[in-house]
Amino acid sequence: WSSEELTRHFLARIKRLDGNYNSFITITEDVAIAQAKAADARLAQGDTNPLCGVPIAHKDIFCTKGIRTSCGSKMLDNFISPYDATVVENYQTAGAVMLGKTNMDEFAMGSSNETSFYGPVKNPWDVNCVPGGSSGGSAAAVAARLAPAATATDTGGSIRQPAALCGLTGLKPTYGRVSRWGMIAFASSLDQAGPLTRTAEDAALMMNAMASFDPKDSTNIDREVPDYSAHLNDSLDGLTLGVPKEYFGEGLDAGTQKAVEAAIKQYQAMGAKVKEISLPHSALAVPAYYVIAPAECSANLSRFDGVRYGYRCENPSDLSDLYKRSRGEAFGEEVQRRILIGTYCLSAGYYDAYYRKAQKVRRLIKQDFVDAFKEVDLVVGPTSPSPAFAFGAKGADPIAMYLEDIYTIATNLAGLPGMSIPCGLVDNKPVGLQLIGNYFEEARMLNAAHKFQ
Ligand code: GLN
Repeated sequence: WSSEELTRHFLARIKRLDGNYNSFITITEDVAIAQAKAADARLAQGDTNPLCGVPIAHKDIFCTKGIRTSCGSKMLDNFISPYDATVVENYQTAGAVMLGKTNMDEFAMGSSNETSFYGPVKNPWDVNCVPGGSSGGSAAAVAARLAPAATATDTGGSIRQPAALCGLTGLKPTYGRVSRWGMIAFASSLDQAGPLTRTAEDAALMMNAMASFDPKDSTNIDREVPDYSAHLNDSLDGLTLGVPKEYFGEGLDAGTQKAVEAAIKQYQAMGAKVKEISLPHSALAVPAYYVIAPAECSANLSRFDGVRYGYRCENPSDLSDLYKRSRGEAFGEEVQRRILIGTYCLSAGYYDAYYRKAQKVRRLIKQDFVDAFKEVDLVVGPTSPSPAFAFGAKGADPIAMYLEDIYTIATNLAGLPGMSIPCGLVDNKPVGLQLIGNYFEEARMLNAAHKFQ
């Protein structure tokens, strides 16, 4: 197949089927065909990049030049980005083709894709259930075979949890491995981009193009990008897996626990050693995150003021009316809740009690992992407490929704890489196995994931 044929095949599938899933906000048909033709010309000249000519989808959190970049919000519904995110640019350099921009929770805040201004995304495994979030559009698109792979972002679980709920492979790299330039900021010290794919092999190819050193992101690391495909087939003999006892307590669905335990046994059969470990501060991860992430979001989202770009209310009576109504009318309920929590935690009288305390807890959580990785190579456990749930099941109760990320959030607080791979079905719904690696150990995680698949 030429890239143009392949691209037209996926565009036709999106048009025919996405009415069922709502996984795309924008379909970039003309751009896709033009890029596919350019890729075919490159291939004819002997380009050997494995992604050259491959169509992919981008989460609508990545700025794309000349194309609407909405971040799932009414606030940016009219925003045409004047530049490309580094991640988008890196895929263009590799020769990949952009099919469109995928749906997401508003400003990446959510675990079910129910907070999007563009409506919820449906899980292709069961359209009465959520696909997870916030990268639910990317996950549903890949699961429904509307795109072979998609970009996503993970601040507290938004790549891994949708991967788990849609039966996919999702990788959140080490903080600093992938450039955040042009990726609309939610919580800058936690945000990281990564791929959503069907397999670890595909995730490795996506990582090879996505990771780079970018001087435009001061938190991005100047460190050689390894060939993530090189060690996929290495033997697992002697690999030590740590199973945290805190990840198997109350709140974990019985079917999910069974599938995860069976996966761990399968690793033993492949030569891995398994050791029970303790991550004693695990229970503090969600509370610390819901101080730190909202605090950073309240600062990051202050740029949306109705003045420079994005939504502006009609006929403001004065400046303060302009700010209040523009933000009040364009931000959804969950985004407003986060801004209020964050502003409160950062205010002079409460900073020490909440924000500073949460930062101290964050340090303890990181130390738990540093200690664990002295004894084990990878930490394994469930990705999320249960398989995909029905629409509305958790939307009314923010705390129930926040607990969706109980096993994923600690890795963002620690800056570690985390991955979710499919490990079975419960009631015909996929279950995810989470692999957590030491800093910059993405290749080892991909190796373990590939051998399992
Ligand atoms: N579900 C978490 C939240 O709502 C994490 C989201 C994310 O990783 N972007 O904040």
